[in-house]
Amino acid sequence: MRSRFCAFFLKEYRYLIETHHSDHLDGLNEQALAQDPLPQWLSLDIISSEQDGDTGQVCFQAWYKLENELDAIHETSDFIKQDGRWFYTQGEQKTPILPKRNDKCVCHSGKKFKQCCAK
Ligand SMILES: [Zn+2]
Repeated sequence: MRSRFCAFFLKEYRYLIETHHSDHLDGLNEQALAQDPLPQWLSLDIISSEQDGDTGQVCFQAWYKLENELDAIHETSDFIKQDGRWFYTQGEQKTPILPKRNDKCVCHSGKKFKQCCAK
C-alpha cells in the first residue's frame, strides 16, 4: 500500500497498473492516471491494516492539493495476494477526516493546520 502511494507521488503509473488487479482495472491505464490536472500529494496516514491469509485490507487517508484546494482520499482498500504479490482490487471511499485547527498540519510542515494548509 505504502509503495503504491510512493508510486503516485513519483508518478510511476506503470507500477500502479501492475499492482492493480487486472479484473478490477475497469479500463484504467497509464494514460488515464497521467492526465492533468495532477494532484500534489502531501502525506499518507495508514489508519489500520489487517491481513487474513491471501486477502488484506488497508484503511488510509492521503492528503493532496489539486489546483491549490486541499482534499484527501479516505479509503478502505482491498488487496489480494496472487503468486506471492499483493494486488489492489477495490476500495470503499469515505468522507475525509479534517484535522482540528490547532493540530499539526497534514503536510508535515510542523506548523499548525490553521497556519498552513487550512488557509
Ligand atoms: Zn500544511
